[in-house]
Amino acid sequence: MSSQPLPAIPTQLFINNEYIDSTSPNRLTVVNPYTGTQIPHAAHAATKHDIDAAVSAAQSAYKTTWAQTSPREKQACMLRFADLVEKHAERLAILESLPTGKPVTPTMQFDIAHMVEVYRYYAGWTDKLPGESYPASNGVYKIVRHEPLGVCAGIASWNATFLYIGWKIAPAVAAGNCFIFKPSEKSPFGALALGALFAEAGFPPGVVQIVNGGQETGSLLASHSGIAKISFTGSIGGGRAVQDAASKSNLKKVTLELGGKSPAIVFGDVDLQRAVGGVCGFLFNSGQVCVATSRVLVHSSIITPFTAALKTAFEEASATLGADPLDKSTVYGPVVDKAQFDKIMSYIAIGKETATLLTGGAQEGDRGYFIQPTIFVDPQPDSPILKEEIFGPVLAIQSFETEEEAVALANASDYGLAASIYTSNIDRALRVSSQLECGGVAINSPFIPELQTPFGGVKASGQGKELGKEGLLEYTEAKSIHIRLDVAKL
Ligand code: NAD
Repeated sequence: MSSQPLPAIPTQLFINNEYIDSTSPNRLTVVNPYTGTQIPHAAHAATKHDIDAAVSAAQSAYKTTWAQTSPREKQACMLRFADLVEKHAERLAILESLPTGKPVTPTMQFDIAHMVEVYRYYAGWTDKLPGESYPASNGVYKIVRHEPLGVCAGIASWNATFLYIGWKIAPAVAAGNCFIFKPSEKSPFGALALGALFAEAGFPPGVVQIVNGGQETGSLLASHSGIAKISFTGSIGGGRAVQDAASKSNLKKVTLELGGKSPAIVFGDVDLQRAVGGVCGFLFNSGQVCVATSRVLVHSSIITPFTAALKTAFEEASATLGADPLDKSTVYGPVVDKAQFDKIMSYIAIGKETATLLTGGAQEGDRGYFIQPTIFVDPQPDSPILKEEIFGPVLAIQSFETEEEAVALANASDYGLAASIYTSNIDRALRVSSQLECGGVAINSPFIPELQTPFGGVKASGQGKELGKEGLLEYTEAKSIHIRLDVAKL
């Protein structure tokens, strides 16, 4: 265990710019997946009463303070918040790492750094939300305005809390909405700590609120008729439940960022080391990444050297397992908890029966929830390790002969989140990228979300977009204004 003193751990709800107790005595405990022992700080879980209070504070802020805050001052709040997050990055990374096992260095270098950039990016949009106008060809001059929705909410998974606090809250508040965010009950502390930073940055009470809680709290948000839109990141089952609750309540807008079974296609003309390095990005956060390319399709001409090089790289990563995620030199941590550990191990058991195990396939050490990076080759076409999302450090390699076969294998999935193509032939890369059924394609790298381009899946991977201009417009409603001109006076 790292010798540095731990920061204070926030456990209360952040409502109306204050930390308050839940109205229920129930507390949600979390286990540190590095040690396997319970963290003594249990977070409060928001009740119906608490959610009503948060919605009421947000409605009030939406109509008064935030509506009266100029775009320039909104922008200043967002930029100050980004600066404060940067200042407190190390503390925030520790708070996120304790319950999730995500090592602090990648958390600071990617999750927190990206969140900061998302706030700065959307701060620039506060005074640039465009509209349209159309000429009075039929005697009616037309204006289209993109107006905020009101109170919006976000529900997130535990694997990258800070990214979701960027992707959901930043565009919403930049467009003039107020926001209630619920982190996963598995990763409450980093999110709750941000409440104080939102207040210090100058966001008026009620504009951004953070409520911890499990599925019940999520359901309260999804079914609340005072909420105009909900953005959900999580499992397909959770997304379905949120969409159901939304349609049974006030038909609020719903964005769903769900699971993935993303393919990486490696063509024979590739720079082998570059491709192996890119595919190894799969191990970031122990494979608990929605866009992780867990299916690797390799051209038969290079399958032997590619597989050997990937095996070596996975075994090198495996040799580093077991280190304290709070240690700044740690790159790979444990998986998030026992439930996730058991789920991944059950897929490994299935893999051993339906594919050939190339490397890994076991727990690493006997403390915490470390799993060896695992590669299966030649899986049976209907194996669950090819069809279902494992969300852990387990990938499967298939070989292909032709481009058409590669595309067919890549598209043979219920999911459609992202894909990677490794090739030195740009014509082929662009041709294949247009044939893939997914929301985003990366050429010669893992798919990494970018500020300016929309992120989101198709098929069972979800609906709606985050990031970019599209991510901003998702927090607005287009309003048409028609002006009938007095033709006689023209
Ligand atoms: P999960 O669905 O169990 O939980 C996600 C969040 O939803 C949590 O905050 C949880 O409390 C809440 N929740 C669960 N059931 C709910 C319900 N019935 N009503 C309302 N809220 C509910 O998912 P998880 O295990 O936290 O996350 C892993 C999943 O998330 C994986 O499938 C992964 O692919 C997906 N994911 C998707 C993206 C993306 O952007 N597409 C990103 C990260 C993770």
